[in-house]
Amino acid sequence: MIESLMQRLGVSEDAYRQGDYAVISPTDGGELGQIRLEGVDAVEARVARAQRAFEEWRRVPAPRRGELVRLFGEQLRRHKEDLGALVTLECGKIYQEGLGEVQEMIDICDLAVGQSRQLYGLTIASERPGHHMRESWHPLGPIGLITAFNFPVAPWAWNAALALVCGNSLLWKPSEKAPLTALGCQALLERAMAEFGDEAPEGLSQVILGDREAGERLADDPRVPLISATGSTRMGRELAPRVAARFGRSILELGGNNGMILAPSADLDMAVRAILFSAVGTAGQRCTSLRRLIVHESIRDEVVERVKKAYAGVTIGDPMEGNLVGPLIDAQAFEQMQSVLDQARQQGASVFGGERQLADQYPDGYYVTPAIVEVEQQDDLVKNETFAPILYVMSYRDFDEAMTLHNDVPQGLSSCIFTSDVRESEAFISDVGSDCGIANVNIGPSGAEIGGAFGGEKETGGGRESGSDIWKSYMRRQTNTVNYSRELPLAQGIKFD
Ligand code: NAD
Repeated sequence: MIESLMQRLGVSEDAYRQGDYAVISPTDGGELGQIRLEGVDAVEARVARAQRAFEEWRRVPAPRRGELVRLFGEQLRRHKEDLGALVTLECGKIYQEGLGEVQEMIDICDLAVGQSRQLYGLTIASERPGHHMRESWHPLGPIGLITAFNFPVAPWAWNAALALVCGNSLLWKPSEKAPLTALGCQALLERAMAEFGDEAPEGLSQVILGDREAGERLADDPRVPLISATGSTRMGRELAPRVAARFGRSILELGGNNGMILAPSADLDMAVRAILFSAVGTAGQRCTSLRRLIVHESIRDEVVERVKKAYAGVTIGDPMEGNLVGPLIDAQAFEQMQSVLDQARQQGASVFGGERQLADQYPDGYYVTPAIVEVEQQDDLVKNETFAPILYVMSYRDFDEAMTLHNDVPQGLSSCIFTSDVRESEAFISDVGSDCGIANVNIGPSGAEIGGAFGGEKETGGGRESGSDIWKSYMRRQTNTVNYSRELPLAQGIKFD
């Protein structure tokens, strides 16, 4: 299957068959390919190429740059099923979610094409006669993109589509657990570039197949003015000071610990469906997965019962075969999950589910039953993001207590409330409500649309990507003052003669 997918996407066999680093599919532990990981010298050469490409690309008018992104979007439409299947094979998310990721790429391309005609600044009134001021936006430079295994393609596209129309070149270091999807995207973009013609310079978009060291090299390079990095809070903690030390900018999209407040007035049918999708979907390996359910004490038993029943109906298995839950990414993720569940048991929590499944059929694939852990308080275990399907359940008495529990974690990505009480829903999204970058009402925390800015506060890193006015992050802002008079008055009325 991998051969035919790669062929249709336009990736040559050399690119994924000739290295010594094995790419493993989490679905069955089988080998998908062998790649060559690049060292720091290769990164250096790629940055130099990206710099040259940037110098040419910034001269192409922005609406023309949008045309390249439009052609890329067309390639994605044509190869949605191929790339979606590759996401499933390489990352283990179910095929429907693989397709969903590619659809997000298509959506951001559409948005970026429109944006390419709207890279506008302001005109500003000047205090000096015969002068005007304006704000203009210029291309920034080669943009460094570092991505995580669990969303191997969409976050790259959120950045790449906008960065390209803004006149920048791209350097993408994908997760070493998901390099083949990156090669697939690059091949499709190269096809779009070939169709676009000579204006797209060589080296406009490059993939760096490397590990953490390659990411660090990119982070340290002063020729890369912006690093947009998606991954764990640990990664962000290491990367951010390196970029800041050379006064580079970073967009950080890090770990989440997303909560739902479930009020007694909520529509429980809707809430249970939302819990199921957001806690169990992608086997709990979304940055926006629901990890904490804060439920009113009066409905706790009923809700837990209903969620357990819903969990029992979930099919676990091959993500290509119409199941709802695929595998964890690897053995390490499985061991981490088991260790956290053991600690929870030792602390007296009640643990439902969490067992390994299908081990006979897939000795090297790590499938698990999603777990529900009922806790009495929100301790350090709950405050940590465990990247696996574990849903902690806690109860609350009044809304203020729920809000305090909700915000009392180090992360601040996504959040939601289910309620029919308009006072509660408005309070939840008010200045004193949820402290997250995303706050939803009567909809779960996962499954964002590209129209809104995506990202979170606190240990989630503060970055925003996709939609809204995010294009400005990929440009350099300049203030211009133009004197069209025959005098040279100074600002603030200063006399200097
Ligand atoms: P990870 O942090 O292990 O790796 C992410 C990327 O960073 C990889 O490409 C890796 O090679 C690179 N990297 C690691 N250490 C680095 C360093 N010191 N310097 C430079 N690069 C480095 O994360 P993962 O396991 O691939 O992904 C799961 C994590 O990502 C979870 O915490 C999840 O919440 C988070 N995530 C966040 C978002 C978001 O938008 N907020 C989206 C997806 C995933």
